[in-house]
Amino acid sequence: MSSKQKIYLDNAATTPIDSAVIEVMSELMSKVYGNPSSVHALGRNARVVIENSRKKIATLIHAAPAEIIFTSCGTEANNMALRGAVASLNITKIISSPIEHHSVLETIEELKKNNKIIVDYVDLDEYGNVDVTSLEKLLVESEEDTILVSLMHANNEIGNMLPIENIAELCKKYNAFFHSDTVQSMGFYEFDVRKFEPDFITCSAHKFHGPKGVGFLFINQKNRIKPLLTGGSQERNMRAGTENIHGIAGMAKAFELAHENMDKYNKHINDLKRYFMEQIERIVPEIKYNGNPKGNSLDKLLNISFPNSDMDEMLLYNFDIDGVCVSGGSACSSGSNMASHVLKVLQTDMNKPAIRFSFSRNNTKQELDYTLDLIKNWYCSNKSVKL
Ligand code: PLP
Repeated sequence: MSSKQKIYLDNAATTPIDSAVIEVMSELMSKVYGNPSSVHALGRNARVVIENSRKKIATLIHAAPAEIIFTSCGTEANNMALRGAVASLNITKIISSPIEHHSVLETIEELKKNNKIIVDYVDLDEYGNVDVTSLEKLLVESEEDTILVSLMHANNEIGNMLPIENIAELCKKYNAFFHSDTVQSMGFYEFDVRKFEPDFITCSAHKFHGPKGVGFLFINQKNRIKPLLTGGSQERNMRAGTENIHGIAGMAKAFELAHENMDKYNKHINDLKRYFMEQIERIVPEIKYNGNPKGNSLDKLLNISFPNSDMDEMLLYNFDIDGVCVSGGSACSSGSNMASHVLKVLQTDMNKPAIRFSFSRNNTKQELDYTLDLIKNWYCSNKSVKL
């Protein structure tokens, strides 16, 4: 591996855009430049691109096209669901978890402060899995309230997955609305919204080899919520602003590709993860996994705490210097090296350096071998490893 080549193992932060997606987007950028709200032919062409993309995406998750609202990203989709639900569905209580993405956590805290919403957090087990009994207890206790449950499907830092269908069932039993941040699992998991009937789920295209700056919110057709952005009738009055035509079409193409080959890609990613785990457990037996990678966990993600050594501060940067792109496992926002709210809640030993490795369909075993060799050199030659 030449030192100039980069090995990209940060696919939970974002993924490289698929070349077929770039092709679709480039063609549209040069040819379909009309405003979709214009009545002339170029405007109508743009409108067709958007509505075809909506149909494609809706079909893949078994939704009706009208249930898909395009947004600028996953953060906006989560904000729209939470703020819209509180503004329109008489929500008095939100039940969530302390290890949600900040776009959910900070929004809920703001709703608590400004809208007098009561907020309860579920208990987690030692691996960070939602304790379903504690959720049910909170639902029983709150029967007088109108409840919104907001629990993410796949955690972006530790990869734990929620049994989303069971949670949706439980919410139905107690008449609670259910929002799930599905940003990390969209494109990697077969959603059938008609089967498990969530109220809101969210998506961001850049997590599955689509473009950045585009996502969507699924709103179950039985719910009517107020828009987050006002000032235009786009998205059936649900999101004002001229649509990101090439972004939306790029997302639809990326979503289609992800679904066409989902089993194949997931198997490849799962094989990589299992290989990496086997090897790293041999090389540095003292590592500790954060989360539950051997249980119900996102295939693409592995969060590892390394034993203390002279390189504690430098581990993330050493990967970078040697051409391997990873995130600090304690990343508050991916890429940053701030203390993680997720690892704190899990009472992880924050003195040990943690790294989040996240794989994609583009990665190879050779890339993992190169990365494992680096780790072997650092840890096996480092006499000051404190176990
Ligand atoms: N939710 C989760 C679980 C995420 O991992 C991310 C991005 O890292 C987001 C929401 C925000 O998505 P976006 O980057 O599209 O705003």
